[in-house]
Amino acid sequence: MRETIVAGNWKMNTTIADAMAIVGGVLRRNDEFGRVKVIFLPPSIWLVPIKERYRSAMLGAQNIYSHLRGPYTGELSVEMLHAIAKYVLVGHSERRTVFGEDHALINAKLKTVLQANLRPILAVGEEAKLNIGKKEKRDILALVKKSELGRSLVSATRGLSHSQWSKMVLAYEPVWAIGSGQAASGNYANSIIGALRAMVVQLANDKVATNIPILYGGSVSRYTAPDFAQFENIDGVLVGNASLRVAEFSNIIETFALARARRKNENSA
Ligand code: PEP
Repeated sequence: MRETIVAGNWKMNTTIADAMAIVGGVLRRNDEFGRVKVIFLPPSIWLVPIKERYRSAMLGAQNIYSHLRGPYTGELSVEMLHAIAKYVLVGHSERRTVFGEDHALINAKLKTVLQANLRPILAVGEEAKLNIGKKEKRDILALVKKSELGRSLVSATRGLSHSQWSKMVLAYEPVWAIGSGQAASGNYANSIIGALRAMVVQLANDKVATNIPILYGGSVSRYTAPDFAQFENIDGVLVGNASLRVAEFSNIIETFALARARRKNENSA
């Protein structure tokens, strides 16, 4: 069974007090972590104090630079993350649009993360909703492949070995759904994620595609999470705004834990 992952991207939010309260609160409220991998992506300044207080918290960085050290004012290197964070978010649409990160930089960052033995969460997504209507799977695949979504997956992962691919987490984040309060429907996300998984067969191989966790992200809330959790192809969620609220984030984790348990029972019956 593939990993189920619920990750919280706090973006540029929280004080140190908020950070401790969120991680502490979520860890206390959830005994489901055996089944769901919960990853906190706080602002990088809070990574060390969180790790010192909560050894068991699984942490990720929201950003790194593609070089290991040197004259890059304001940047964070993967070498600084060792023993603190295991995951790094790469290719988030805010990095692409607000900070002008292009395909080449995203590809370089991805490789730097992998070479440091950290796991990237690679975010890809389309600017405007794709018109998948009632199209067949192979037509959706063709549409995704020629869209900016498909092209950004290809360019971000150019030159990766199969063993590097096997460490990746993918996050399908339609740009129009991020922060808009308008999540994609579970059906739509499931179809696109199916196409992305089919692309991974072609870019890597069957085994990588079968095992790679692919998350959905974009206005996930306690209300929309069940719509995504019902699909076996959607391996979890990347949550922005709702990950700042302990009760709501915990509720989303529980939704995925229950869905996973249900699926496991069905598979073993
Ligand atoms: C995100 O920033 O990755 C995200 C999904 O944000 P939100 O859940 O707030 O749409």
